[in-house]
Amino acid sequence: MIKITIDGNQINVRENITIFEACLEAGIEIPTICHDKYLPHIGRCKVCIVNADNQYVTSCNTKIYDGMNLVTNTNELNEIRNTNIQLMLESVDFKKLPENLKKLAVSSIKRVSTTNSQKTINNPFFSFNPDLCFLCGKCVSACSNLQGRFIWNFRNKGKKLGLSIGIYESFEDAGCEFSGTCVDFCPTGAISHNRRLSKIVSKCETICSYCGVGCQIELFFDGENIISKPIQKSEKYSSLCVKGRYGNSYVLNSQRLKNPLVRKYLLENLSKKEATKDNDHELVEVSWEKALDIISDNLIRVYENYGGDAISFMSSAKCTNEENYLFQKLARQIFKTNNVDHCARLCHSSTVVGLIETVGSGAMTNGMDDIAENAKTVFIIGANVTEQHPVFGVKIRRAVMERKINLIVADPRFIDIAEFSDIYLNIKSGTDIYLINALCRIILENNWQDDTFINERCENFEEFKEYILRFDIDEAIDKTGIDYDTLFKSAKLIATEKPTAAIWAMGVTQHIYGVDNVIAISNLQLLTGNVGLKGGGLNPLRGQNNVQGACDMGGLPDVFPGYQKVIDKDVVYKFQEFWKFEHDTQLSNTPGYTVTEMIDNLDKSVKALYIMGENPAMTEPDIQHVAEKLKMCEFLVIQDIFPTETSKFADVILPAATFAEKDGTFTNTERRIQKLSPLFAPMYNSKTDFEILTALANILISKMKLKPSGNFSSWNYSSYEDVMNEINGAAPIYEKVNYEIIQKNNVCWPVNSKYPEGAPILHQESFSRGKGRFFAIYPQRPHEIVDENFPLILNTGRELYHWHGGELTRRVDELSKISDHPVVLIHSEDAKMYGIKDNSNVKIISKRGEIIAKAFITERNQKGTIFGNFHFYEGNVNTLTAKALDQKAKIPQYKISAVKIQLV
Ligand code: SF4
Repeated sequence: MIKITIDGNQINVRENITIFEACLEAGIEIPTICHDKYLPHIGRCKVCIVNADNQYVTSCNTKIYDGMNLVTNTNELNEIRNTNIQLMLESVDFKKLPENLKKLAVSSIKRVSTTNSQKTINNPFFSFNPDLCFLCGKCVSACSNLQGRFIWNFRNKGKKLGLSIGIYESFEDAGCEFSGTCVDFCPTGAISHNRRLSKIVSKCETICSYCGVGCQIELFFDGENIISKPIQKSEKYSSLCVKGRYGNSYVLNSQRLKNPLVRKYLLENLSKKEATKDNDHELVEVSWEKALDIISDNLIRVYENYGGDAISFMSSAKCTNEENYLFQKLARQIFKTNNVDHCARLCHSSTVVGLIETVGSGAMTNGMDDIAENAKTVFIIGANVTEQHPVFGVKIRRAVMERKINLIVADPRFIDIAEFSDIYLNIKSGTDIYLINALCRIILENNWQDDTFINERCENFEEFKEYILRFDIDEAIDKTGIDYDTLFKSAKLIATEKPTAAIWAMGVTQHIYGVDNVIAISNLQLLTGNVGLKGGGLNPLRGQNNVQGACDMGGLPDVFPGYQKVIDKDVVYKFQEFWKFEHDTQLSNTPGYTVTEMIDNLDKSVKALYIMGENPAMTEPDIQHVAEKLKMCEFLVIQDIFPTETSKFADVILPAATFAEKDGTFTNTERRIQKLSPLFAPMYNSKTDFEILTALANILISKMKLKPSGNFSSWNYSSYEDVMNEINGAAPIYEKVNYEIIQKNNVCWPVNSKYPEGAPILHQESFSRGKGRFFAIYPQRPHEIVDENFPLILNTGRELYHWHGGELTRRVDELSKISDHPVVLIHSEDAKMYGIKDNSNVKIISKRGEIIAKAFITERNQKGTIFGNFHFYEGNVNTLTAKALDQKAKIPQYKISAVKIQLV
């Protein structure tokens, strides 16, 4: 503490703070326009001027020192402040200013003019009105310092000073991500959201329903519109991405499923085969009672005729933990099948399998804030982090700008985050193992490995070392396209500038050797001792909002909740006792079908398929094949928010509620369990998945004359919290999770007797499997390689503005205005060779099918490659992808398909 004097009073204050902060702590409010606690202090408005030891200084950016004598309130100071305010406000329309600014300025305004020479600039999300801009610069600062974007700039000087987006015609061309951060900081309303509320009818604090970052948002509703805001709980400003900020109006979209629908032939007690008349297949609205009656009758029929394994269940990474728990309980307890899986199969099953082999747990080891605040080096491989996990991407950009971390990005595309990298490894598609093995070899040759860590915490090192020291670096250079010097620099940073966090996503996992890719990354992190420490770790970024939770809850065919294996007799016994009915048969101890196997067997062993919130007709590879299979399904139930490509094949469609109408929890990519709360009750005649599943289970129990006799056999839940109480007993990693703890302070699992407060970093003392294991990983060929007929490699993924099959984002007007048709990215040299211009319609053809999309010519793509997304049914790249699977994880190789392109 140091002593200073403020307006004649001596006080003790903390060191190293500004005059502004010291005054605030002493209860003295200094007027200001441009100051904000989240922004660097720029001293631009000069309204916060004070007298410090007889000098006028701006208080927001002047630090205090011992013995400083401050005067904050004199006529002279007020005169200067008023002049400064007047200078700022003289070009704005005073009448339109917010009340707080009018009050600040009212004593000083002598002249009001609207001669502002700036231009109005709009986009679908927010608008800029120059009449209200007094050039405080907060938007410029927020955009550059908080978002790492640099869209807003000042142009010209003196009287001509104005705000601009540089040389660009549109925000999109300027590279704006539409996070809305600038709007949050604009004090005058010059930059304002286009969608505004007339009044607030209801509001709630909940969790974003899009990606695995799991941002906390506040939702507001005025009876017609929904808007959202980021919740500020930490020292640093928390932003949202465009989807979290502007992408929630789908909740109110009139295309929502409103009532249960069944095919007419079911109402007439006909089987699918007997339904031969055209109108037999019409969808008819029915009551919930009727719909659940039909579903229960048909599931029981299939169960009694063919056994439980003839029914398959697709769980949902968009639903809550509690709902996923109930869904797999329905499958396992009532129908005695482990045929439960969900979209984790298609994104990170290779991560789960790979990491369980090497460290014993398939989850992200470290937290996003931990990496942003503590990593010295960040190695991102196959993760387009600023588009797919945008708020985490922003944190990484800030870590580069503020802490000067070393950033290495390996990706076949020059993705946005690569612009911030120290080293960009422009690897050829599918050569990750060559790259990582080469890095490991360079580390070993230079003795940069962490011997203490390896000796104390790892096994199988000698075998790995022997293999790696024989690994052919020249071949790696040839295959990856990365020269030795760049490999050397990367290896050195990863090994010696610790802690290093390895981050990956589907660029690594979606290969027929996805598991091996993950194990190779694990080898690298074990070799360098970068696991179990702050700022390091193995960090797979999970895609959907609750994909981590859906896995935790046992939405997988080989594990019960908490990753307890179905082949383990003791585990099966535990759940048998837990869920048993009187005179009941045993739970199945045979791993069930994966998502891809369920689809493949629809014309064989799988007679009924129940899909909760998934759309395999868009997201599976080779969707024409999927459509053929879905047509053959004897009984298909879809439970969803909107009609989908998959629901076209459904026998019964149930209208489900959205996240904004739900209670319960989501678990984000860093294992953080977070609480939802509803904005309003389910709209129309929809119900929450919790309500649907409990109602259906009780009907089944009654019709099947099952008598609950275990501690958790019955389905008498009155709330989501009741289900969480049951999860406590079922999943040891959720043993001590309760809503009170979560609401106070979100916790990362495991939350149990050993870690009652949760464990933000995994494997700190020992690995979940005991010792971390090295494996010698051999590179493999992709399932398909280019040839003269199909000379280009197709790489697939997502874009910032849409999410998965577009079910939600395409029902948001603003997002559709920015992106409303399928686009493929192509390198300029390829475009020239095929006579393709920007925006040309092109046909992409693979051995599976063809699509038409618009071409976008970019040097960010490697020559010889095409990149496309799966958001648009009109031109979905999954028409082109193949069902070639990793044999261990059953994940498809979405990232490599051989295609050709033609101008249409
Ligand atoms: Fe939602 Fe993810 Fe965007 Fe956060 S980063 S607002 S969780 S989509």
